[in-house]
Order: sequence, then C-alpha cells, then structure tokens
Amino acid sequence: MQPVLTMLHFFPEHLNLYGDRGNVTVLQKRCGWRNILLKIQEIRHAREACFPEADLFMIGGGSDREQGLVMEELVQMKEPWKEAIEDGLCGLAICGGYQLLGEYYELADGTRIQGLGILDYYSRCGDPRRRLVGNLGVISPRFGPLVGFENHGGETFHAYEALGDVVFGYGNNLSKKKEGLVYKHVIGTYLHGPVLSKNPVLADWMIMAALRRKYGEAPLPSLNNELEDEAKKILWNREAGHRLR
Ligand code: GLN
Repeated sequence: MQPVLTMLHFFPEHLNLYGDRGNVTVLQKRCGWRNILLKIQEIRHAREACFPEADLFMIGGGSDREQGLVMEELVQMKEPWKEAIEDGLCGLAICGGYQLLGEYYELADGTRIQGLGILDYYSRCGDPRRRLVGNLGVISPRFGPLVGFENHGGETFHAYEALGDVVFGYGNNLSKKKEGLVYKHVIGTYLHGPVLSKNPVLADWMIMAALRRKYGEAPLPSLNNELEDEAKKILWNREAGHRLR
C-alpha cells in the first residue's frame, strides 16, 4: 500500500517570498522518490482547511503588506490549527509565516498585525530602515549545520527551544544569536533558500514525523544528498571563515 500524506499550504500567492513555495516541491520530490504520495491542498480561505485530515503544513514568508492581507482569514483557523499542532501535526513556518504563528508582529510605527497566537511569542520591527539581510548559518543541536538566506525587518523574541545557534547572519533578533524555534513537530525559521532544498535533513525530519503520526513506524530510505552537502560547505566555508567537515 502506497503511503499518502496531505499537506496544507497556506496562502501560496501572498506568502511566497524568495521562492518559499519551492519547499513544497522539495517535500513532494523527496516523498515521491520513496514511493510516498504527497497531496498538496492550497488554502486561501479558512473554510478550506481541514486540520484533522492534514499530515503536514507549510506557511511561507511575506511582506508586511501581505501579512496584513491574510491575517484576517488566518486568525479564524486558530483553534483547529492549535489543536492539531498539540496533537503532533508537523509543519514549517518561514519568516512572515513564522511571525504569524505568534501573538503579533508590531511594525515600526506601532501598528500591530495580529498573529494566530498559537505559540506564545511576539515579533517587532524596531527601525524600518534596518533590515536583517544576508546569508544565515546555524548550528542546530538536532539537525547539524543549516544554511539559508534571510531578509526581515521584524525580530522575534521567544522562550521556546531554538532551532539553533547563529554562526553567521542574524536569526531571530539582534541580541540573542539564536535562530528559529522547534515546538513539538513545528519548525519556525527565518531561513529562506528554499530552506528545505538547502537542508534536506529538515525535509526528511518532516516526512518522518508525518509518517509516524499517521502510520506508526516510518522507515525512510536515505537519499543521495551529495550536491546539497557540497553546496552547503561552499557557502559555510566562505561565510563562517572556518571549514565545515
Ligand atoms: N515582513 C516580514 C519582515 O520584514 C517578513 C519578511 C519575510 O517573510 N521575509 O520582517
């Protein structure tokens, strides 16, 4: 029997900065190569999202304007979404999407874009002229070295487990040198790239978590990641000034 997973992809047009949609393609390919069917359900309205049937979710980054546009629809999904996350639903929230899983995102002029409030944190933009831009490299205790690209005005402050420690770039905010968060099977991150193409270890962790939740045991054959590993090393060695083994 072919395993089948369903992924909710939220606001694919509005929340798709720097090719975040590519993460969906990566998951689909890495599932397909293992004979797992990954179905994608694009969500543009709250009524379309059926959380009890979902195995994965992805919410990408967006400009302040686009975050404001989707938020009204988004907050209507809070309760079932939160329930599913507590039940182990696995998901990836990137940059603008990561900010929106928290309580609010405050712009430099004090305007607040309401978040889902599924997790207990906030983001704020101190100075509109200052953006946190560039390559971002992280050492994650769970996943090893991770790389990607960041471009955000908002800084996020939380007390959850971080995805990792910043080696180069900024990450969550200017003061802590921490990047992203992990809560149950949810990853929040400022890494664009798309992050899953640059860090297949995250993609496989997501697939595994979804398979385990739905089917129990989940043997996942390994794939050849030589190209991805080589690209990561090149970026890391240039940006960090020390060699990645
Ligand atoms: N608009 C948000 C910010 O600037 C998110 C940007 C993004 O998703 N890259 O902080």
